[in-house]
Amino acid sequence: QENEIFRPTKAIIDLSAIRHNIVNLRKHLHSDVSVIAVVKANAYGHGDVQVAKEALKAGATILAVATPEEALHLRQEIPHTPIMILGASPIVFAPIAAKEAIILTVFSEDWVRKVSPLAKDFEQPLKVHIKVDSGMNRIGVRQEKELQAVYDAAKMVNNIEVDGIFTHFATADEENQEQYEMQLAIFQKMIASLPEKPRLVHAANTAAALVKESAQFDAVRFGISMYGLAPSTYIEENLPYPLKEALALESELVHVKKIQKGDRVGYGGTYIAKEDEWIGTLPIGYADGLLRCLSGQEVLIEGVRVPIVGRICMDQCMVRLPKKYEIGEKVTLIGKQHGNEIHIQEWAERLQTIVYEIPCMISERVPRVYK
Ligand code: PLP
Repeated sequence: QENEIFRPTKAIIDLSAIRHNIVNLRKHLHSDVSVIAVVKANAYGHGDVQVAKEALKAGATILAVATPEEALHLRQEIPHTPIMILGASPIVFAPIAAKEAIILTVFSEDWVRKVSPLAKDFEQPLKVHIKVDSGMNRIGVRQEKELQAVYDAAKMVNNIEVDGIFTHFATADEENQEQYEMQLAIFQKMIASLPEKPRLVHAANTAAALVKESAQFDAVRFGISMYGLAPSTYIEENLPYPLKEALALESELVHVKKIQKGDRVGYGGTYIAKEDEWIGTLPIGYADGLLRCLSGQEVLIEGVRVPIVGRICMDQCMVRLPKKYEIGEKVTLIGKQHGNEIHIQEWAERLQTIVYEIPCMISERVPRVYK
């Protein structure tokens, strides 16, 4: 019974939307370009295993995550597909990565030298992709000399295979091309300085994959738009195909009552009824990711927008209803209802953040249900 869902609050993930977003990306890309599905952070909150399986069915051939734990979690359910860790991995993880066919990101000669004595015991060669820092200044080698040193050190170890080289753009989602062009030129120069091109060269994130043909190389790393969200307004206005949002957040009314003019609602009594009003209670709060500063945000009931009133509690919140509703009435916090819609973008604007953060902050307590 542990896995049974009793709570009416759920994130509904539409896997066919994920499929649509990938299938159309593949049509948009040159036919020999591979798709790396970025499923880090529990697939941006959508559920790593389910999204990964759907992405592979839709034609992605590599999965990318951020941490060793995320890679191992996926590996339990997905035995054969290459899984790449985009961030830095500790040296002690290298033998496990080799055994589990997990590709590691490398950018330090010292790291390779420290892994080298362990390599003779690897069950199979460890595949690595060298990260080039072409201008983001996060991780990666910044100079040809450094690149050469990492490459040579890796090449000297029998059980390490330099399978790829990659970089990451800081501004591919912006209209101004300046930094993008500069990063691209640096990356190309770095690749050209190697004695031979590694098998898989990749640079593009979603933004570059959708609007910059010059960034396609051998593969693209497709994250945010796999989930149907545009990385920025600029990309949204220049999309090569319409995206489908995969996540909806739904709940239902668990209590409805009429309060009198002057009655106060919630902690601190911050909301005061201006007249006699119907108030509904929803079983969702800030511990689910409905952050307190989303007070005032609207939700949909029968396709009509109604506001969250008073302070959002840890597990519950209150909404002002236009009329009496029955217990169990469906409430949509994100998604479509009766022809009306609340986009993730609306939450992002209210919270002064980017769409990426919204599905990531819907906490583990909210069950993900797939359709
Ligand atoms: N590649 C790297 C190295 C990343 O860190 C990320 C995400 O932050 C991505 C690709 C995917 O980016 P996006 O979600 O914009 O496609």
